Amino acid sequence: MTTIRRNSHSRTIGSTTLRPESLMMGYGYRPELSEGAIKPPLFLTSTFVFKTAEEGKAFFELAYGLRKSEPDEEMGLIYSRLNNPNLEILEDRLTLWDGAEAALVFESGMAAISTTLLNFLSPGDVILHSEPIYGGTDYLLKHILPRFGIRPVGVLANGGTEAIEKALLDHTVSERLKMIFIETPANPTNALVDIAACAELARHYSTPQKQVLVAVDNTFLGPLWQHPLHHGADLVIYSATKYIGGHSDVIAGVCLGSARLIDSIKNMRTILGTMASPMTGWLLLRSLETLKLRMTSQMKNARYVADYLADHPKVQQVYYLGHLGEGSPQYKLYRRQCASPGSIISFELVGGEAEAFRFLNALELFHLAVSLGGTESLAEHPASMTHSDVDPEERIEMGITDNMVRLSIGVEHPEDLIADLEQALAKV
Ligand SMILES: *Cc1c(COP(=O)(O)O)cnc(C)c1O
Repeated sequence: MTTIRRNSHSRTIGSTTLRPESLMMGYGYRPELSEGAIKPPLFLTSTFVFKTAEEGKAFFELAYGLRKSEPDEEMGLIYSRLNNPNLEILEDRLTLWDGAEAALVFESGMAAISTTLLNFLSPGDVILHSEPIYGGTDYLLKHILPRFGIRPVGVLANGGTEAIEKALLDHTVSERLKMIFIETPANPTNALVDIAACAELARHYSTPQKQVLVAVDNTFLGPLWQHPLHHGADLVIYSATKYIGGHSDVIAGVCLGSARLIDSIKNMRTILGTMASPMTGWLLLRSLETLKLRMTSQMKNARYVADYLADHPKVQQVYYLGHLGEGSPQYKLYRRQCASPGSIISFELVGGEAEAFRFLNALELFHLAVSLGGTESLAEHPASMTHSDVDPEERIEMGITDNMVRLSIGVEHPEDLIADLEQALAKV
């Protein structure tokens, strides 16, 4: 008798299809395979014992793609660089939010991004990307990929779809285009990039020999408030360090998409060894149970904070998706693409760096730290911290000014957060 380990969990009750939040506690895990433990134990093991030599041979044939699996044949556990129960359960569970066929978990968001890009890009290829983009991704695109003959072409997120279309008018870009990589909303300005428009452009520039892929870094709004695959993206990537982990105690990454694309990235992950550890998988499984609770609470708190800041005389401008002007192109895109404004707010103080620093140094409840998406509220200064290695001229073009502060809103009481902002603004 063969035992089915993966995806055995029913997703329906009668005619009701269960929602992701109802499945976060048990989906993909069978207690009877672990002594009845209600939660998956931590599988701290490097290797797995085969029942027979024939079984070991069969598992390797599937792992290395030497033959297709038989109907109902499941790949067994081999070695924790290839597969591990904590990662498999987590990967199955993560597919539910984004409606993906398959997922892969990595030891960091950067591991997810670098493994994915190295898997699909070859010398001579062009990767078109939105700007500003996460600092690590920016460095990978501009300093590492060119060493392998891959050409990055950046397009400003605040330039809209027209800016992307314009970049593609250059035939040295469009003919070699292999991937459109976007981060939306952009960090720290919250500028939105139109995923569906990028998917359409990718289809237009694809040929029978070369599929142009659209990959979206969905760290800021996903996996609850934005679902790129539904808008035509091929791949969704996360720094799971942020909302998915949510407690600022783990570094991890995720990539999701069709089984075909994810299988091919999985081979690269196996060879580069960028998979997450079992402990990371276990921590993320625990985090997923409260994902919706946390993100909903953070979203509600952010609305209070953004409204408060918008009315404050020492605040010049607030960048928050919940404040987009009705009827503006960004508002229309927001309504089509996002389900909530999320909980990242950037704002400009009246003044410059000195005023921003005085404010940051006066905070008591907010912690002064980079990162985002955790249960505690954080504040940072993009121009001198997360985006300090961006060329100063480009930084201004991207809208990252010296008087800008970025907030990540946590699950504290909103009135306590506002009390802290009030006393810190009073000291500016
Ligand atoms: C943090 C972050 C990353 C990098 O993730 P790590 O887990 O730190 O490697 C990538 N993209 C975005 C948008 C991020 O915020």
